[in-house]
Amino acid sequence: MIGGFSGAEYLVKRGKSPWFAGHLEVKHNDIIVTSRGRNVSEVIIPVSCLISVTYRNSKLILTSIPKIDYSRSVVEISLAGEAQSLLKLSTFLNSKIPKAGGAQEERNLLVYINPFAGTGVALAKWDVVKKILKKAGVRTHVIRTKSQNHALNHLRKADLSEYSGVVSVSGDGLAHEVLNGMYGRDDWNQIRNKFNFGIVPGGSGNAIHCSLLYQMKESFNDEVIVSALNLARGKSVDADYIMCETENRKFLSMFGVSWGLIPDCDINSEVIRWAGFMRVYIFLILRLLSPRYYGGRVHFLPSNDKVKEIPELPKIGDPVPKNWTTVEGDFLIVYACKQSWLDYSTIFVPDAKLDDGIIYLVVCRAPLSLRESIKLLLNPSARDLHSNIFIVPVSAFRIEINNPNDPLTVDAEKLTCHTVQGRIVSPGCKMLVNLTDK
Ligand code: ADP
Ligand code: MG
Repeated sequence: MIGGFSGAEYLVKRGKSPWFAGHLEVKHNDIIVTSRGRNVSEVIIPVSCLISVTYRNSKLILTSIPKIDYSRSVVEISLAGEAQSLLKLSTFLNSKIPKAGGAQEERNLLVYINPFAGTGVALAKWDVVKKILKKAGVRTHVIRTKSQNHALNHLRKADLSEYSGVVSVSGDGLAHEVLNGMYGRDDWNQIRNKFNFGIVPGGSGNAIHCSLLYQMKESFNDEVIVSALNLARGKSVDADYIMCETENRKFLSMFGVSWGLIPDCDINSEVIRWAGFMRVYIFLILRLLSPRYYGGRVHFLPSNDKVKEIPELPKIGDPVPKNWTTVEGDFLIVYACKQSWLDYSTIFVPDAKLDDGIIYLVVCRAPLSLRESIKLLLNPSARDLHSNIFIVPVSAFRIEINNPNDPLTVDAEKLTCHTVQGRIVSPGCKMLVNLTDK
C-alpha cells in the first residue's frame, strides 16, 4: 500500500495495442504496469509525467509523457475492471497532478504567438502543444501578435480573471514582452507570485527555454513536447527576474542585459534571419576577425549568502554605494546573465538556476588576442581562460556606456541608453515548469 493506493488487476491497453490482463501498482512515485501473460512485460511511468486521468465509458485512461529510450512521447494507457477500483485509482492519480491555477476543467491559458518568430515555425510548434493540452483538459485562448508590443499592450489591460496563466510562443523577445506586459499591470504585485507564466520555444533565440530544459535534464530535441508537458501538468515553480532601469524606464528581464560583442552579433545578424540561430555565429566569426572594443564602466554588488537581494537600486544619477566594485576601461563582452544557455549551442553560465537568486556577471576586458577569442568561443563557460575574463555572482549591477550607440540588449532585444542597472528579485514570479527529482 503506497500513498493510499495498492496494486490491482485490470484489463490493460497501451495505445492501440490489444487488451491484455495486467497488474498496476504505484510504487515510489512510479506507475508500474505488468502484463500477466506468458510474455511478462512492464511499463514504468513516473507519476511526474502524468498529464491526465479520465474515467470514460467504464474505462480509465491515463495520458502521460514519459521518457522512453531517451526521448519523450505521449503514452496512453486504458484500464478496464471493477468500477470502484478504477475510481479509487482515478482519485489517487488525479491528486498527483498539480494543475496550477485551478482544477482540470478550470485551466485556461492566454496564449500569445508571434507567427513570424524564428524561421516561421511557432504556429506549427503550437499545433503540437495544443493537441496535448486538449488531452489534458486545458483550454486556451490564442492571440496571434500582429506587431511588436502587441502582446505587451494587450496584456497590460487584459482581464485575467478567467485565465490560469499566460504563455509566450516565440523566442526570448516575446517572452520579454509578456513578462513586461504583466509588470505594467496595476495588479502586478498581487498577481506576480500567483499568476503563471509559461513558454513554448518558437523563436530563433530560445535561451530561457534552453536553460529550463538543461535544468530539467531534458534533451533539446524534446523541446516542444517538454513545453507541452510543462503547460499540461500545470506545476508552477518560483523564477527570478532582474528588475532593470535606465534613465527613463523600468522593466523586467529574465534572460539578461548584454553589452558588446554578443548583442553586436544578435542585432546585426538580423539581416541573415533565414539562417536560424546559426546567424549569430556566422556574424561572430566575421567580428572576431576585426574585433571592436567598447568603453565604459561596470559596477556590481557581489552576491553572498547574507545579501542575495537588495530592496532597491541606487538612483541612476547617483554614484554606486561604497560596497559595490567598479571596473573601468575597454570591454569585449559584458553580460549580466540569468540563464545558463545563450542558445542551442552555447552554454555560458552552467551554474545558473531559475531561482538561485543570482545574476551572473560575465566580463571580458580588452585586449583579447584572436587565439584567446577563439578559445573563448569554443568554450564560453570556462572561467580560467584568461585573467581578462571573469564571472562573478552579483545581486546588482550597473553598466555605464561611453557611446550610447554601442550594441546593448535586454533579453536579446535592442536597448538604447547611457546607463542600465539591475537587481535580482528572487522569487520574482511563477513559471509553469515541471521540475521534479525524476
Ligand atoms: P526570435 O527569437 O525569432 O527573434 P522573438 O520572440 O525574440 O523571436 O521575437 C522577435 C521580435 O519580434 C520581438 O521584439 C517581438 O516583440 C517581436 N514581435 C512579436 N510579434 C510580432 C509580429 N507579429 N510582427 C513583428 N514582430 C513581432
Ligand atoms: Mg529574439
